[in-house]
Amino acid sequence: MNAVSKKVCLLGDFGVGKTSLVRRFVHGLFDDRYLSTVGVKVSRKMVMVPQLADLVEMTMMLWDLAGSEEFDHMRASYLRGAAGAILVCDVARPATVDNLGAYLRDLTSVSPRARAVVAANKSDLLDQRQLLTPRIEAFATSHHLPLFFTSARQGTEVETLFRHLGRALLVEATPA
Ligand code: GDP
Ligand code: MG
Repeated sequence: MNAVSKKVCLLGDFGVGKTSLVRRFVHGLFDDRYLSTVGVKVSRKMVMVPQLADLVEMTMMLWDLAGSEEFDHMRASYLRGAAGAILVCDVARPATVDNLGAYLRDLTSVSPRARAVVAANKSDLLDQRQLLTPRIEAFATSHHLPLFFTSARQGTEVETLFRHLGRALLVEATPA
């Protein structure tokens, strides 16, 4: 069995639920307070990822950067060496959807080979979700990015999102 370690960065505006998604995935917990992230927090989670007839033991190093402006100058060093990224928006806040493109550009400029997925988070806020769904889908489709409607609060699609990214990271690593 192979073992690999991959750096995965969380990207998205303040308050979209980046820290909550990591916390849900790593610890199975949710917290209603803002889980303020000062600087960069790195969490580690081991996942078994299927590859052909085998299983790969993947350690995901989940990098979570505070969304505040002061940390903008850190973004390049934050993104360096990232194998993957999760672009997070809030299904109830249009601005967070509009900003996804800028995060993707940042990612591509620093780590052009990184695999990205989109997390449309807070999908438990159902009525707001309807409104922005076409915009989020249009973004994901136009950049060929897998899209998941997650809820860190309820746990919906969180596991699926991270596992999908895990598999994509292995595809990337395999020489053609
Ligand atoms: P970050 O700034 O992107 O790291 O966002 P946080 O993880 O700190 O979350 C910001 C706020 O949104 C907190 O009050 C969370 O409890 C809340 N939140 C996060 N995920 C969800 C979710 O899936 N559903 C709902 N309803 N609230 C969420
Ligand atoms: Mg945070």
